[in-house]
Amino acid sequence: MARVDSEEYLEGLAQRLREAFPQALDGEGRVNLKELLPEQLQEFCAILGESSYRAGQLLRWIYVQRVTDFQAMSNISARLRARLERLAVLSQLQLLTPKHSRQDTSKFLFGLPDGQMVECVKMRYLEHLGPERVAVCISSQVGCAMGCQFCASGQAGLVRNLKAWEIVDQALQIQRQLDAKGERVANVVFMGIGEPFNNFDNVLRAIQLLNCGEGFGVGMRHIALSTCGIVPGIERLTELAYPLKLAISLHATTDELRNRLMPVNRRWNLEALLGACRRYQERVGRRITFEYVMLEGVNDSPEDAERLVRLLHGIRSLVNLIPWNAVDHPTFKRSSPERVRKFQERVQRLGLRCTLRREKGSDIDAACGQLRLRQAAQVEPVEA
Ligand code: SF4
Repeated sequence: MARVDSEEYLEGLAQRLREAFPQALDGEGRVNLKELLPEQLQEFCAILGESSYRAGQLLRWIYVQRVTDFQAMSNISARLRARLERLAVLSQLQLLTPKHSRQDTSKFLFGLPDGQMVECVKMRYLEHLGPERVAVCISSQVGCAMGCQFCASGQAGLVRNLKAWEIVDQALQIQRQLDAKGERVANVVFMGIGEPFNNFDNVLRAIQLLNCGEGFGVGMRHIALSTCGIVPGIERLTELAYPLKLAISLHATTDELRNRLMPVNRRWNLEALLGACRRYQERVGRRITFEYVMLEGVNDSPEDAERLVRLLHGIRSLVNLIPWNAVDHPTFKRSSPERVRKFQERVQRLGLRCTLRREKGSDIDAACGQLRLRQAAQVEPVEA
């Protein structure tokens, strides 16, 4: 029979763990293992007198077997499982409303421990991944402070940053749903609600957790980060030289229009933004995607197309045109398909790669923030 630890001994361990991992504690002072990086999990095991091999086992149980309960960790001793029950926790987001698109896209709304909500989108539109491989678009903040005029999240303002585990758990929960079908999350895209560079420390930790080979195992090259143009964030990414995909929400070709659509441009204008993009590409070498939402009569003229090509000259780029998802917004109208087609043709003729984002998800309010805004007052938990 396993020896039982005394309460005094366990309290001593708990104290040491609280001192070692203050940022990873839940409301009851237990360590949330999903907030720990692999090397911290080793430190956690060392405090419990366990080898680093044990940390690898825990990583695999959490991110590969995807268990939610220490008792399911069958190759871990009963004594250690009892300690884990007392000293640690595996926090989880609560799935509130899975909302299925008619097409191949689903949107998920998750409840956070403090009652806030966050959303993410599962997509199967990346044909080159194969039918069993899925991309998830995840959120990095509850709400967003950046105030982009065309964005529902921007209108609601920032509520708070997500912790690293709250970011990773969006992908993990979707993966758990895919397991039964033998499908796999192959790409993770930081393009949901929030500006990732405004929560960069937690986003960085989430990227490391997603990328960990013994854990979730999404390759760096399959993680994309989208920013509205926070230049110091791009510079930090340049220093790190991670081979991530960088995407820029551009949406305008003059400072005058971009100042109006995206207040961030008043702080870092087009010249500063594109300068940072050039330096990032020199260092990291990866093509940069420029997102461009098509707004009729605002940014979709032939002159806009020509200016766009001139602006991006010298940057290896992909321009991704996004048909605007008509939120209830009095100011903007969606560009007609004909106008979008002509814009795309002109950009391509002038030598830039230009794609049109397929409208998977438009039937499930997949524009940023809408689901959260509409359902904030009326969600019910559902079985995961
Ligand atoms: S578009 Fe992105 S950066 Fe702009 S307000 Fe919306 S979530 Fe924030």
